[in-house]
Amino acid sequence: MATYVYRFADGDKDQKDLLGGKGANLAEMTRLGLPVPPGFTITTEACRAYLRDGAVPPELRVEVTLAVREIEDALGRRLGDFHDPLLVSVRSGARFSMPGMMETVLNIGLNDASVKGLAEFSGDERFAWDSYRRLVQMFGKTVLHIDGDRFADALDGKRAQVGAATDVDLSTQDLRELVETFKDIVRDETGRDFPQHPREQLDMAIEAVFDSWNTDRARLYRRRERIPHDLGTAVNVVSMVFGNLGPTSGTGVCFTRDPSTGEPGIYGDYLPNAQGEDVVAGIRNTLPLSELEVLDRPAYTDLVQAMRRLETHYRDLCDIEFTIERGKLWLLQTRVGKRTAAAAFRIATELVDEHLITMDEALSRCSGEQLTSLLFPQFDPHAETTLLTRGMAASPGAAVGPIAFDNAQAVAAAEAGTPAILVRKETNPDDLQGMIASAGVLTARGGKTSHAAVVARGMGRCAVVGADALRIDPVAGTVTVGKTVLHGGDTIAIDGSSGEVFVGDVPVTDSPVMVYVSRGLEAGLEAAGDDDEARGLVSAVHRVMEHADKVRRLRVRANADNAADATRARERGAQGVGLCRTEHQFLGDRRRLVEQLILAGDDAERRAALDALLPVQRQDFVELLEAMDGLPTTIRLIDPPLHEFLPDLTTLAVDVAVARERGEADPHDEKVLAAVEHMHEQNPMLGLRGVRLGLTLPGLFALQVRAIAEATVELRRAGRDPRPEIMVPLVGSVRELQIVRDEAEQVLREVGDAAGTTLDVPIGCMIELPRAALTAHRIAEEADFFSFGTNDLTQTTWGMSRDDVEGEFFAQYLDNGVLTISPFETLDADGVGSLVRAGVEGGRATKPAMHMGVCGEHGGDPESIHFFDEVGLDYVSCSPFRVPVARLEAGRAAAGASQDTV
Ligand code: ADP
Ligand code: MG
Ligand code: MG
Repeated sequence: MATYVYRFADGDKDQKDLLGGKGANLAEMTRLGLPVPPGFTITTEACRAYLRDGAVPPELRVEVTLAVREIEDALGRRLGDFHDPLLVSVRSGARFSMPGMMETVLNIGLNDASVKGLAEFSGDERFAWDSYRRLVQMFGKTVLHIDGDRFADALDGKRAQVGAATDVDLSTQDLRELVETFKDIVRDETGRDFPQHPREQLDMAIEAVFDSWNTDRARLYRRRERIPHDLGTAVNVVSMVFGNLGPTSGTGVCFTRDPSTGEPGIYGDYLPNAQGEDVVAGIRNTLPLSELEVLDRPAYTDLVQAMRRLETHYRDLCDIEFTIERGKLWLLQTRVGKRTAAAAFRIATELVDEHLITMDEALSRCSGEQLTSLLFPQFDPHAETTLLTRGMAASPGAAVGPIAFDNAQAVAAAEAGTPAILVRKETNPDDLQGMIASAGVLTARGGKTSHAAVVARGMGRCAVVGADALRIDPVAGTVTVGKTVLHGGDTIAIDGSSGEVFVGDVPVTDSPVMVYVSRGLEAGLEAAGDDDEARGLVSAVHRVMEHADKVRRLRVRANADNAADATRARERGAQGVGLCRTEHQFLGDRRRLVEQLILAGDDAERRAALDALLPVQRQDFVELLEAMDGLPTTIRLIDPPLHEFLPDLTTLAVDVAVARERGEADPHDEKVLAAVEHMHEQNPMLGLRGVRLGLTLPGLFALQVRAIAEATVELRRAGRDPRPEIMVPLVGSVRELQIVRDEAEQVLREVGDAAGTTLDVPIGCMIELPRAALTAHRIAEEADFFSFGTNDLTQTTWGMSRDDVEGEFFAQYLDNGVLTISPFETLDADGVGSLVRAGVEGGRATKPAMHMGVCGEHGGDPESIHFFDEVGLDYVSCSPFRVPVARLEAGRAAAGASQDTV
C-alpha cells in the first residue's frame, strides 16, 4: 500500500517534493523537538493520484482516519466532541510556495454541538462562537467557493448594526447571530446546509486543496514562475492552537534577521488575541515583536530560543509563523525566508563571519539577478517623495519624465530632450515607437509577462505594469488615482524595481554598488557615504565578487566596439574583448567611403575607396587595442547587410523621381539608386551579409585585416602588447572560412614582413548558423577559435527574426505557455543549446584544445552562463554593464550553485 500520509515526526526538510515546503519544514521542526502542534501531511503523490483518477484514493481515507485517531489519542480530544473537541486546520503546501492559491481553513471540527464543547473547555463562550463564525466563513469561501464578499458584507453589517468598531467588539450574541447568517448564506448559495459532520468537513477541505492545484489562477501563476504543472500539492492537517483566547494569547510572524536589509537582529509583528491571518489581513494594527517581551517575557524568551535554533539548523535567515495560546508558544510554519537583493549579500557574508557557512555557500546564495538589481540607477534614498500608487515591478531601474499617452507625445518629449513616461492602460505592438522613445513605461493592466513588461525588459527600459488604481483617459489627457488628477506633461517617477509610482520629480543616482563595480571598493564606499547599510552592502558585494573571481573557471570578456566601451569593461573586470563589431566604424561620415566602395565601377575606383578607409580603420584598432593592452581582443570582420551603408530606398527613389520630373536628374543619385535597387533584399538578415559579403566584395575583408595588422605593428613599436584575434561572421561552410583565411594570412604576412616581424594573429569564426554547428568538426580545420553567436543562432534555429517577433506575439506566447521565457533572453538549452553542444564537441574532436567562447547576449544571462560552463566553453562575452554579473554567475557555476536562490 502506498503511503499517502506522513506524521510530522516521520518526515524531514529534504522531502519537499513529497511533503511540500510547508509540510517538510513542519516535520523538520517536529524532529528538532520544537513545539509544533501534532499533525500530518498528505503527500503530493496523493494529490497526483486524485488529479489523475478524479477521485480520492481509497487508501487515503483509511490513512487519514488512522492519523486523526493518533492525534485524538495524543491530545485526549475527539473531532466533534461535545465537551472537548479536537479542531484542525487544513493547509495547502506545494514544493514551491504559491501564495494566494488556496487559503487555509482553520477550526475544522466545529459544528452546532462542538461549539458548545469548545466554549466549555476554554471557559470562553465568545471565543467559541468567534471560532465557529470564522470556520463557516473560511469554509464557505475556500471550499464551497462562495464569494467572500457575502460574508464580509454580513460581518460589516453586523458591526454597523451594533456599533462595533472592530471584530473584537462583537459580543457572543452578535457572533451567534452571525453564524446563523453565515449558514443561511451557505444554504442560499449552495442549496445545502453547512456540513455538520467534522469528517465531512475535513474530507471536503482536503479535496478542495487538491482541486486548487488546477484552477486557472494556479496554472497562470505556475506559468509565470516557471513551476511545472505535474507536481501537485501536499495538504497539511494541523491540530489547532488558539491565539484568540484572550489577552495572554496572540499570533505573529518573525524573521531571524531583517529580510530587507539583512541586518542581524530579530524582526517581526505580533497581534494579541488574534487568530491566523489577522496579522497579515491588517484588520488591527500589529505590535513590533519587541512589545511581546514586555507583554509576556517567558513566551518571548522561548520564541527567541526557537529562532536561534532554527537559524543555526537551517544556517540561513528563517521566516517563522507562531501562535501563543495562554502563554504557551507554538510554531506553525518556518522556511528559509525570502529577502531583498541587498539582504542576500549581507546575510551571506555575515553567516560566513559567524562560521555558519563557507564562502562557496555564500556565493551560491547571491545570484546574478540580485546583483543586477543592485546595479540599476535608483531614486535618491533621501529624497522626499509623494507616492501615487503601486504596480508590479516589471523591468528594473528608476525613471522620471513627463506623462505621455501615445507615441506622438512620447516622441515629441524625447525630441524636446526630456524623454517621457509612457502611460497606457496596456501596450500592444503599435506602441513600440513610443516605448523606444520613452524613459519608462507605466501600465494599468497586465502582469509580468504582458506585452509592456516583455518588451521593456528586452529594451532595458524601466517599467511598472498592472498599477490597477490608475484611471487613464487618453482622450481627456488625464490619469486619475483617487482624488489626484494628473495631466499629460506632468512629471511622474516610476521605480521598476519596487513597482512604486511617485508624483513629481525624484532625483536619480548611481547606486553605490554600481559605483563599486565600475570604480572599485574605495569609490563604492565613498558613494555610500555615512550610510552604514549601504557601506555594509558594498563590502559584502565586494567579498562575494572576490570569491567568485577566485573560483570561477569561465573567463569573462566584454562586447565592446570602441576604446571607451573597452575601458569601461576593463574597469568592471573584463578579461578581454570577445566581440568588437566593426560595422559601427563604417557609419556616420564614413558611410560615404563605403558607398564609394560599393559603387566602384573599376579597380581604380575601388582602390581609391579602400585607400581612404584604411587609415581611419587602423586608428580605430590602435585605440581599441591600446585600451585592451595585454588582453585578447576579438575583432569581427564586417557583418551587416550592405544596404545599411546606402541611403534608404524609398527616400532616394522619391528624390530621384522628383529630380527627374524637374529635369534635374543627378547622375550620382541615379547611380546610387540603381545600386540600392539592385541590392534590395526581402530578408536582409538571411541575405548578403557576414562572410558572404567578404567573399563578394573584393578587398573589404583584406582592408580590415590590414588595418588590424598595421595597428598591431604600430603598437608593438611603441612597446605595447596588442593581442588581436580576427573573427569571421556567419560562416556556414568550411570552404568560406578557408578562402577568407588564405587571404587574411597573406595580408598578415605582407604587413609582418614589411615590418620585419611575424604577426601570429589567431583567425577564428563565429558559430551562429545551424550548419556551422553541425559541421563544426570541418570548420575547426580552418579555425583557431570558435565564438558562438547565440543571437543569430537562436534566430536561425527558431526561424524567428528577433526584431519582428519580440514586439509582436511574444507576450501571447509567454501567456499561453508556449514559451516560459524569451529564448533571446535565456538560452534555449534544449534546442539552441544542443547546437552549441554539437559545435563544441565537433570543434574539439578536430582540435582538442580549441579555445571557445560565446558572444551573444546570453553571455550575460545568469541561467545561460551555467549552461556555457557546463558545456565547457572557455569564456563568455557580454555587454560591459553585465560583466560583473557574468563574473558572479561564472563563480556560482564553479561553486556548484543551482540557479535558484530564495
Ligand atoms: P499561508 O500559506 O497562506 O501562510 P497557512 O497555512 O500558514 O497559510 O495559514 C494561515 C494562517 O493560519 C497562518 O497565520 C497560520 O499560522 C495559521 N494557522 C494555520 N494552522 C494553524 C493551526 N493549526 N493553529 C493555529 N493557527 C494556524
Ligand atoms: Mg503561512
Ligand atoms: Mg551574428
